[in-house]
Amino acid sequence: MIKAVFFDMDGVIFNSMPRHAKAWEMAMHKYGFNFNAYDAYLNEGRTGASVINECCENTYHRQATQQEIEQIYHAKTEAFNSFGMPEPIEGISDVLHFLKEHGIQIWIVTGSGQHSLMERLDKHFPAIFSRERMITAYDVKIGKPDKEPYYKALLKSGVEAEEAIVVENAPLGVKSGKEAGLFTIGVNTGILDPKVLKEAGADLVLPDMKQLLEYLRDLKI
Ligand code: MG
Repeated sequence: MIKAVFFDMDGVIFNSMPRHAKAWEMAMHKYGFNFNAYDAYLNEGRTGASVINECCENTYHRQATQQEIEQIYHAKTEAFNSFGMPEPIEGISDVLHFLKEHGIQIWIVTGSGQHSLMERLDKHFPAIFSRERMITAYDVKIGKPDKEPYYKALLKSGVEAEEAIVVENAPLGVKSGKEAGLFTIGVNTGILDPKVLKEAGADLVLPDMKQLLEYLRDLKI
């Protein structure tokens, strides 16, 4: 019996990952760091500073300076903003409406800290989401891949762990869902080899939201 579904946002609700990946690639190259779009997908969910630091260690075998972190992250943010707002992931709207019709709690669990998040969600999915059912960057101290964000969502939702499902697209997000003790579905909406999600611990890896809808229908919820 499923009572709640916890959705990640980037790459699950909105098709924002191609823009993030491109922006990371541009910013890193500008400062002479080796980093490509695939690396961006692998690192999705990490803080900007930690991504830059790890990349600097891989490229130059040293820690990044504070100035490098600030400059690269600024360049990445500027590039990302210049690309405009991403559209929803194909098929996600049908999944959300199916859950809503069946009275299942719909949650957002994201590391994003955009202030305009609720407005964007409401614009694309009217009456689906609520502020009370949201865990964002402002609600956590550690973030993914720690269990914290999904565990907090579980506690706030009031449902049992066996009654909840996590939907993620990123390996670090999958780890977070599993650490929280939840059944975690990896939907591979990006360019990663699907086995990366399986290796991160996903209970199930699906190629798209159409397959997720089929899966939820088969649960007879
Ligand atoms: Mg994601």
